[in-house]
Amino acid sequence: MQEAYLLLGSNQGDRLQWLQQAICMLALLCGNLLQKSSVYETAPWGLEAQPHFLNLALLLETDKSPEALLESLQDIEEMLGRRRAELWGPRTLDIDILTYGNEVMHTEKLTIPHLFLHKRRFALAPLAEIAPNFVHPQLHKTIATLLAECSDPLSVCLYDGFLAR
Ligand code: ATP
Ligand code: CA
Ligand code: CA
Repeated sequence: MQEAYLLLGSNQGDRLQWLQQAICMLALLCGNLLQKSSVYETAPWGLEAQPHFLNLALLLETDKSPEALLESLQDIEEMLGRRRAELWGPRTLDIDILTYGNEVMHTEKLTIPHLFLHKRRFALAPLAEIAPNFVHPQLHKTIATLLAECSDPLSVCLYDGFLAR
């Protein structure tokens, strides 16, 4: 078993509903959900002319390899209406692997920890809520430190529509 931190995001349609459904599918198909952050509303990163996102981070305990996990995440994205279009464009659902245990890997399909984790406030803020003391296995700094040092100016706010816990 390994513990992976994931980031979920949606900026199309009923955003909260996509996140809720993704959480159900993750629990059904990928393993045990051990922790879940609040939901955050975040300004789009990379491609700014698109609706704001809702994001949340969670901790998944899984027996899947990183590659098998990625495949399952992509299946869930597809089942929940994701159509692959432009990179960083609008989507009903995006699920990224932020970290997988303490692994560091870089292949054609997977970069772990996620390449932009430390550059994105929208990923660091939810992750810091559930894992402030987790040490980034490549940068050797805690998530709380990376958030404090992050220069991403894009807004990240707690969202007040709550998910059932
Ligand atoms: P970003 O990865 O910058 O957040 P994105 O989520 O919009 O961009 P996608 O279109 O969802 O990008 O995914 C593109 C590819 O990224 C996937 O097909 C996958 O192979 C690859 N990838 C590399 N590292 C990861 C990771 N840690 N988690 C998820 N996908 C990854
Ligand atoms: Ca992403
Ligand atoms: Ca993705």
